[in-house]
Amino acid sequence: MHESEMWNLWHGCHRKSEGCRHCYVFRRDMQHGIDSEIIRKTAAYDLPLRRNRQGGYKVPPGTIMWTCFTSDFFIEEADEWRDDVWGMMRRRSDLNFVIATKRPERIKSCLPADWGEGYANVAVCCTMENQRRADERLPLMREAPLLHKSVICEPLLERITFRGKLDAWCEHVTVGGESGPAARMCDYDWVLDIRRQCVDAGVSFHFKQTGAVFRKDGLVYRIPRSEQSEQARCAGVNYHAE
Ligand code: SF4
Repeated sequence: MHESEMWNLWHGCHRKSEGCRHCYVFRRDMQHGIDSEIIRKTAAYDLPLRRNRQGGYKVPPGTIMWTCFTSDFFIEEADEWRDDVWGMMRRRSDLNFVIATKRPERIKSCLPADWGEGYANVAVCCTMENQRRADERLPLMREAPLLHKSVICEPLLERITFRGKLDAWCEHVTVGGESGPAARMCDYDWVLDIRRQCVDAGVSFHFKQTGAVFRKDGLVYRIPRSEQSEQARCAGVNYHAE
């Protein structure tokens, strides 16, 4: 089992689509009087290259680095920094980087000159929270020159049909509801419908968490944060494609 680490390169974002409505970045920043619309590098920007006292890298080989959880990796304001970041990822070919984005339309124009078919240690995961965004983003992800790509439907806001555009290019689909005080409802039928499409397409499926307001068999449940992942796990609907 590999270790994992958060690598938050830059902070700040602009709301991009319906799933951003209750973004926790804006919620938390507001509590601290911070303007979330200002994009800035964080203190952890060069984390993969930091050395320990023995001269080795602080982040050990094999670590999974989850990037940009208070911004979007492909946001415009970070264009001037991204080549430097690709360089860090290239140097640390012994780490695995995971990038989540709601801006797949920017991927192609943001790739480095030596990208080729993709860096083997970089995976991109695109969020599609409703039908409109799945229709927009699925074709873009399908065409994107990436060696590892996946889909995340979170917060799942309605039933989504992939219209036959999901197949082996996608390594896995993750589904989850919305958290927070104003969470919108997630219906278990929508979750199972995505699972069925994944099984038909031979794509792995992970039900990550129920969200705070979850409907099952017509009944609506309020689920505390601490139980949302466990409830999803107990549903026993995860699927591993061969
Ligand atoms: S793209 Fe992500 S970080 Fe940016 S506003 Fe939307 S949910 Fe928040």
